[in-house]
Amino acid sequence: MRKSIIASTQALVLALVLALVSAATAQAQGLTKIAENVYAYAGVKDASPKNSYAANAGIVVGTDGVLVIDTLTSAKEGQRLLKDIRAVTKKPIKYVVTTHGHFDHAFGSCVFTDLGATLAGHELDRETLAKKGEALLKKPEAVGLTPADLKGTRIVLPSLTFTERLTIRLGGETIELIHLTPSHSPGSTLVYLPKQKVLFAGDVLFTDFHPFLGEGDIPGWVKTLDFIQDLDVTSIVPGHGPLSTKKDVAEMRDYLLLFDAKAKELAAAVTTSGPKDAAALAAEMKKLLPARTQGEAMILYNIMTKYLPTKH
Ligand SMILES: [Zn+2]
Repeated sequence: MRKSIIASTQALVLALVLALVSAATAQAQGLTKIAENVYAYAGVKDASPKNSYAANAGIVVGTDGVLVIDTLTSAKEGQRLLKDIRAVTKKPIKYVVTTHGHFDHAFGSCVFTDLGATLAGHELDRETLAKKGEALLKKPEAVGLTPADLKGTRIVLPSLTFTERLTIRLGGETIELIHLTPSHSPGSTLVYLPKQKVLFAGDVLFTDFHPFLGEGDIPGWVKTLDFIQDLDVTSIVPGHGPLSTKKDVAEMRDYLLLFDAKAKELAAAVTTSGPKDAAALAAEMKKLLPARTQGEAMILYNIMTKYLPTKH
């Protein structure tokens, strides 16, 4: 009973998140060149579920093939990315890398494996995707999508996995996959291009958006952000939000520490139970947190999934 109340309240909150994000503006078209042989979505504004919640993606173009980083929410969205890639290069797509297993970054992978690409990802998020992927595919409304949105989408698991580091060499380009510790998700991976000094941070970095913390390991996340500060990098593609720099990494670190400390403190004082307590706590948190453009309801969602999961 309690579980079903939690589930229905969470669905309500998610509906609120979706209502907020669907009031978004039109999306910038196509992939932007951000460095030599590197292209990415940058500054996507339309954060509706149908537009992959503004999840970013990108490509590295080697002399004899392409590596894709993240694949959006569905086969349909993966096809959109493929079309944008084809506007840049006709070279074969050899590798697909997912920064983590969350559906808005990984469900479009089947489009690329169907073309013969090898899918690479972290061992831990491969496990999560294997456990949760099929269930989500059967219940798309849980994340604001319809069966039609997910038409043709199949869960594909990485065939090339790693636990700490993996280097992929692609016709003159070097791509390093780095995992230090669980952070945004257990296997969240940094995709580093040392020659270009570019980093695809996945959801380790949210710029401008309130981050999803529900599965986060806050100390590990902070450690990963500190690692980025020491990395030789000038341009960072966040999981959601515009092209970023180390200043945004510092702001993300401050946000996480502030959120975690205050939410714990406020949650400890909650003695009664009910969704109203979570809403009141979230409203209090919103006053303390920096303003970010969209998805304020994500604060409430984080409170309910991470800080008050058993109190309502
Ligand atoms: Zn994520």
